[in-house]
Amino acid sequence: MQMVFLGTSSAAPTIQRGLSSIAIMRDGELLLFDAGEGMQRNFIKAGLGMNRKMKVFVSHMHADHCVGLLGLLQTMALQGRERRLDVYGQPRLKEFLIENMRIINFGLTFDVAIHTIEQEGVVVEENDYRVLCCEAKHSVPSLSFKLEELDRPGVFDVERVKKMGIPQGELYSRLQHGQDIEYMGKAVRSRDVVGPSRPGRKIGISGDTRPTDKLAKFFSGCDILVFESTYAHDKLQKALETSHSTATEAATLAKQAGVKKLFLTHFSARYDETSQLVSEAKAIHDDVEAAEDLKVVEIPYPA
Ligand SMILES: [Zn+2]
Repeated sequence: MQMVFLGTSSAAPTIQRGLSSIAIMRDGELLLFDAGEGMQRNFIKAGLGMNRKMKVFVSHMHADHCVGLLGLLQTMALQGRERRLDVYGQPRLKEFLIENMRIINFGLTFDVAIHTIEQEGVVVEENDYRVLCCEAKHSVPSLSFKLEELDRPGVFDVERVKKMGIPQGELYSRLQHGQDIEYMGKAVRSRDVVGPSRPGRKIGISGDTRPTDKLAKFFSGCDILVFESTYAHDKLQKALETSHSTATEAATLAKQAGVKKLFLTHFSARYDETSQLVSEAKAIHDDVEAAEDLKVVEIPYPA
C-alpha cells in the first residue's frame, strides 16, 4: 500500500503546493480522498493511471476539496477511461456533480456512480477492507474518513503440516481458513497450525476540522493519521475562527488516539516551509512528518 499526497495547501494554492487531495493505492485499486481544484495535474505527475479501479471520497463541499473532481472527470474522459468511477460524498456532492454534468459537456466515456453518504459509519465494505466516516467539526458539514483493512489470517505452519503427511490442496485451505480437519483418522486443529490473525492497516484522514474527542476515538489505533494543520499554534485564534486545527492540536489528538505516525497537511499559504509546525507537533508526538505535494509514503503491514 502506498499513499501519495497530491495537494497539501489549504484554501489557496502556492507555488509548491496544490489543493487538497490524497491518493492511496491498495492492491491495484486507487482510493482518492478529496479533489481540490487542479489536482489532476499532480494526479498525472504521480503516474496513478487514468483507467484504474477507483473510488473517490469527498469530505465537504468547499472548492479546495471538491471542485477538482470536475477537471479530473474531464481529463479522464479525454484519456478515454472506460471503467466506472465510484464517488462518495454528502448529498450536496451529488447535486453539484449532476448540475455540472448537465451544464458542461464532459463527453464522459465512462459511468460515474454517485453514492450519497447519509450517516456516519461504514461507507464502503469490500472483501478485505472498508472505509468509514465520522462527523468532523468545520464551518460546513464535513466528514473525516478511515481506511481499515480486515485482519488477515495468521501465519500457516507449512512445515508442521507437511510433517503430518497432509497433502497440499483443499485440506491446507480449510486449515488456513480456521476449519479443523480429519486426516487418516486423526483430528487436526486449525489453531495448532495457524498463528493468530494479523491486523490489517488503518489509515485516518481528517479533512478540514477542529480537533474533537469524537475524532480522537474514531482514529484510535491508526497506523497513520493525516490530520489538517492549517496553522501553527500561535494562530490558534485564526484556527478557532475558521474551524481549522493547529499543528499542536493535530499532534495532541494523534497522541490521544494512540496513532503511530502523524502527517500534517492542509497548510495555510502563509507557511513557505513547515519546520515550525513540525517542531511544535514533535514536542507532543514522536513521529511527525509534514506532507509535501507528490510525497510518496510506503505503508507496510504492522510488524
Ligand atoms: Zn480546506
